[in-house]
This record gives sequence, C-alpha cells and structure tokens, in this order.
Amino acid sequence: MYPFSFHQTTNVAQSVSLKKEHTEAKYIAGGQSLIGVMKLRLDKPSQLINLGSIPELSGICVEGKTITIGAMTRHAQVAASKDVKACIPGLAQLAGLIADRMVRNMGTIGGSVANNDPSADYPAGLLGLNATIITNQREIKADDFFKGMFETALEASELIQSIRFTAPIKSAYAKFKHPASRYAVVGVFVAQFADEVRVAVTGAGSSVFRLTEVEKALSSNFSAQALEAVHISADGLNSDFFADSTYRAHLIKLMAIQAVNQAK
Ligand SMILES: Cc1cc2nc3c(=O)[nH]c(=O)nc-3n(C[C@H](O)[C@H](O)[C@H](O)COP(=O)(O)OP(=O)(O)OC[C@H]3O[C@@H](n4cnc5c(N)ncnc54)[C@H](O)[C@@H]3O)c2cc1C
Repeated sequence: MYPFSFHQTTNVAQSVSLKKEHTEAKYIAGGQSLIGVMKLRLDKPSQLINLGSIPELSGICVEGKTITIGAMTRHAQVAASKDVKACIPGLAQLAGLIADRMVRNMGTIGGSVANNDPSADYPAGLLGLNATIITNQREIKADDFFKGMFETALEASELIQSIRFTAPIKSAYAKFKHPASRYAVVGVFVAQFADEVRVAVTGAGSSVFRLTEVEKALSSNFSAQALEAVHISADGLNSDFFADSTYRAHLIKLMAIQAVNQAK
C-alpha cells in the first residue's frame, strides 16, 4: 500500500467540506471495495475521508410503512434487523446473502450503492423497491441513480446519507451466486406493491436493470405460473467464463420464479 492521509470526521458537513477541498480524496465506508481497488492500484486517492465515526449515518428508522436506513449501516445489521424483516423481508434476505460474514460485518449499504458494482446485490433491492437515495444535497429515485457500470448519479463531493424505502405487500430476492466471490452471477429482486410490480436484475448486464416483460406478467397474476410463457432474451446480457449470455437469460427466469415463490 502506498501512503495516504486519513481524515477522521464526525459529521457530514465536515466530510463534504474536506472532499471539496481535496478533489482527489475518497470517502471510505466499510472499505470492502475501496481497499481492494487501492491494493490493485486501480485507484490511488491521496486522502481518505472516514465516514465510520459519523453517528447520523448509521441506524434503521421505521415510521409507518416507511423505513429509512443510514448509509453506514452494515449489511449484517440490515440482515438481522427485526424492523427490516417485518417491513421488507426481501431486503433483509438480500443483505444476508451478500458475501461472507466478515464482509457483511464491515460493508455498508451506502458504500455498496455508491460503488454500483454490476454484480452487487443492493442495487437490485433499491431498484426493485423503488427506493429513494438521500444525499447531503438532494433526493434521487433509484430509477435515476444507477447510470452504468460503477457509475451513479452522484456528483463529485456528494455523500449518501440514507436510503428510504416504502414497504411493499410482498418481496423476495433470489441469487445464483459465484461460488468463490459470492457476488451475483444473476440476482433478481421482486416487489409487489398495490399499484405495480417491480422486478430488478443484477449480475446480468453492465448495470442493474428492470425486467419490464416480467413486471407486466406479474402485474396481472403474481404467481410463478405467470412466468412460464415469458421469454428472456440473451441479447446484450453479460457473457464470461462462468456464464454465457444464454445461460444468464435462463438464470434470470429461474431466479424470478424462485423470488416469486418465496415472496412474503
Ligand atoms: C470478498 C468479497 C466479496 C463480496 N461479495 C459481495 C456480494 O456477494 N454482493 C455484494 O453486493 N457485494 C459484495 N462485496 C462488496 C461489499 O458488499 C462491499 O461492502 C460494498 O461493495 C462496498 O461497501 P463499503 O461500505 O465497503 O464501501 P467502501 O469500499 O468503503 O466504498 C466503496 C465506494 O463507495 C464510496 N462511498 C462509500 N460510502 C459512501 C457514501 N456514503 N456516499 C458516497 N460515496 C460513498 C467510496 O468512496 C468508494 O468509492 C464483496 C466484497 C468482498 C471483499
């Protein structure tokens, strides 16, 4: 590892001000993606701004059907939360399927969402649940947030403070994981609301995306049977050593069926 300065901050305003002052600086949350990137010399920030000691960024708050999760909330906390399990079982399930115990104890929802790895799990949860990303300067709907591979709508110094969800009627996440990294080869999040069904896919494209043909089929009949006749095209899907695009298309349908069967 090469030298860098480490800033310990205690509030959001101080972190944002430091980031504006040092344009090449990076926020660090759980470090589970950023440290690996730095070790591989894919990024070389000279300053790290630690978000780990800012109390206002952590925690889970429920108000009626609205649940707000602080950006620094660890995957393990979301997976174990009684509130998340009660309001959005699919989201707790998703958090519990991320990586291994060590990564889940360190990694954060804000870090995962800001990173937007094309195989990460949370982006599918946020897009499937029509979540709102709350930053230090605005609110961004998930539909407008995930722009492409490792690309989001965040501006240079913008900091994610929390994510707001509305509890659906039913939700579930099904993931076919890579056996070594446990990232999604394909992951499908399904959420049924009173007025719509949303289905989001991770691992299969350059970024998370919605599956409109499956949403349409499930909107009139929320059951696995409704998906029998649906054809998932392999066009434009990822193809690599582990899974070609045809296999990923097959997995999308299988994971969608699994998610619908598990939804509660
Ligand atoms: C072995 C291994 C296996 C993994 N498997 C999975 C998996 O199965 N599924 C999965 O989804 N993920 C997986 N991950 C990634 C893991 O979930 C990370 O926790 C996550 O991607 C990043 O979160 P973090 O808190 O560690 O962020 P960091 O690594 O600290 O930061 C990541 C990026 O986000 C930026 N950032 C962080 N917080 C904020 C914020 N609040 N506002 C703005 N920008 C911010 C940072 O500047 C950095 O660019 C795995 C990681 C490892 C090491």
